[in-house]
Formats: sequence, C-alpha cells, structure tokens
Amino acid sequence: MTPPDSTPSSSDSSASGAGGERKRILTGVRPTGALHLGHYVGALENWIRLQREYECFFLIADYQVSDYADDFDRVRESVWEVALDWLAVGLDPNNSHYTIESLVPEHAELTTWLGWWTPLGMLERNPTLKSEMADLEARGSVPVAFFNYPLMQVANILMPKAHLVPVGDDQLPHIEMTREIARRFNRKFDREVFPEPDALVGRVARLVGTDGDAKMSKSRNNAIFLKDDEDTVNQKVRGMFTDPTRLRATDPGHVEGNPVFIYHDAFNPDTDEVNDLKERYVAGKVGDVEVKQKLAKAINAFLDPIRERRRYFESHPEEVRAALERGSTYSREVAQATMADVRDAMQTNYLAR
Ligand code: ATP
Ligand code: MG
Repeated sequence: MTPPDSTPSSSDSSASGAGGERKRILTGVRPTGALHLGHYVGALENWIRLQREYECFFLIADYQVSDYADDFDRVRESVWEVALDWLAVGLDPNNSHYTIESLVPEHAELTTWLGWWTPLGMLERNPTLKSEMADLEARGSVPVAFFNYPLMQVANILMPKAHLVPVGDDQLPHIEMTREIARRFNRKFDREVFPEPDALVGRVARLVGTDGDAKMSKSRNNAIFLKDDEDTVNQKVRGMFTDPTRLRATDPGHVEGNPVFIYHDAFNPDTDEVNDLKERYVAGKVGDVEVKQKLAKAINAFLDPIRERRRYFESHPEEVRAALERGSTYSREVAQATMADVRDAMQTNYLAR
C-alpha cells in the first residue's frame, strides 16, 4: 500500500552547484509538540516546494529542548509527532534526510569547537534568545544548554555545509550568527570549509496565534495543529480573537491586523469570498459568526488531505521508523566527512607527528 498523493514541487534552476549536484538545505524543528499552521506557512511550505531542487536535511533538534528537561516524555513523543506531521504534509523521506540530531553526535562535537570563535556577547545580544530566556526565567531558571542552543543550531547548519535555511523570521538572528561564525572559521584557517548560508522566510514570516498573540506557538495554547480534527478546528476558530473595538455586527470593523482575516488570507484560496467578507466587515455588514464559519471551512478543507496522509502513517509506524533511521544514518556519514575537513583545517591530528 502506498500513502495518499502529496504535493508536487516547482522547479528552480538556481539550486544546482557547478558540478550539477544539488545545493543543500538544512532546517529543523524542536521536538516539543505536534506542528501547527504557523509552522506550515512560516517554514514547511517552502520545504515542500524546494525538496526536489535541493538536497534537504530535515532535523529534529532533540539536543535543543533543555527547557523541557522535566518533561522528557514529551520530547520522546514529539520526535514521532514531528516525523508524522512531516510525512503528512508531503516531505518525501526517500528524497530527503529525516535526521534525529542526537543520532548524529558530531553536532555536539562541532558545537564545542565553534564555541571557540563565538564571543559570549554574540549570544547575549541575540534578540530571539533574549526573549526566550526572559520567558524561561519567569517560569524558573535557564539551563546552560539553553543558552547555547543557537550555537548548536549554527553547527546543525554548517554540518552538511548548507546553502539555504528556510525558516520563520524568529530564526533570522541565528542564521546571521551562522554566517558570522562560518566567516570567522574560514578566515582563521584560511580555507573555505563552510559556505555562508542564506535564510529564506516563508509566505507568512510569523503567524499570529488564535489569541492574537504575535506568534502561534506550541507552548502558548494558541495553536491550530495540523492534526486537529474538524470539531477541534471549528471550536478553536469560534473562540478566535478578532477586532476588539467592534462590539456589534453593525459596527464598522478593522481587517488589518485582525487574526481572523490574517488566517483567511493565509488559508482561504477563494479570494472573491475573502474580499467580499472584508468589504462587508469594514462596512459593518457581516457578523463575526459568518466570517469564522467560512474560515473554519477553509482551514478544514486545507487540512483534510494532511489528516488523511497522517492517518496512513499512524497505522504504518514501520515506515516512520525507516524514514528516521535511513535519514539519520546518511546524515551521520555526511557529518563524519565534514568533521574530517574540520580536523584537517584545525590540524588536530596530534598523533600524526
Ligand atoms: P517552541 O515554542 O517549542 O520553540 P515553535 O513553535 O517556535 O516551538 P520551532 O520548532 O522552534 O517551533 O520552530 C520550527 C520552525 O517553524 C522555525 O523555522 C520557526 O521559525 C517556524 N515557526 C514556528 N512558529 C511559527 C509561526 N507562528 N509563524 C511562522 N513560523 C513559525
Ligand atoms: Mg521556537
């Protein structure tokens, strides 16, 4: 039996290197829960589109979830949840490398070496890290490993010598850091060990949460998950934050910055319907109920094929396991080749004298 059809990709001729080999993408997710609509428009959509043009390394970053140290069950479970979601959205594991980070311990080794050329201030100034640490501090304390995670992400990206990193915009500071550290390393050892990777932000750089918060997030209880069933989606959409200044359906409403319309723009392919709703909303001629019912319908239609493929893989765990095993094994070979280059550059073959 084969899984239901998945999304085809477009063609992009710029993705080939001089020798005709595909350029590489490295990108990933933390195993902290199932994936949601924000992941889709912020990142996954680009991964799906580019998976044939580039050789893709999709990483499940289980070294980087020290903020979940008290809930390791969740991490273990989420490794599978993420793999299921990837398969469900149509990332082809036969044409890309599903990689569990800790099955490639070279990531830890490279992180250690790169730390030599990473001043503390570079991490302290990182705005994404700063705000995540503030959240963590409010809930308890910050593990040393958490402070170091952006550097580990640098090692993830440099390990397969990736050219492109498609991510949501919260990750941009980490990619800027990657470029800086690659430059420093290459300059130090006077050779081009690592390419400087480019970032690629998705169609919606940062999708707001159902509560109107700036970022839909697994941990903030404001997410619509790709695996949510129809009733759950209907209920979450019914409870969505809209225009707080609008008390009655006859009041003129605001479309700009209104989460319900941000989602309509992102997930409702019927632009005539969306434009009609917007016009009537601004004129005070449509109630939130109708806007939300149409939104829920669009999101459910978008999620239906994803749900169907997920059901297939949920009942074929051997295929999920094979994808993770095959990808991680391949990535480890690539990592060992890169580490040989790193040791060669650093001349750490001390026993060769
Ligand atoms: P956590 O809260 O555990 O960090 P997360 O939702 O931020 O979870 P990550 O695994 O950190 O998820 O991020 C995976 C990828 O998805 C990153 O490229 C990130 O930028 C992107 N992403 C996550 N949430 C959103 C969002 N709401 N809008 C756009 N992109 C997002
Ligand atoms: Mg995150």
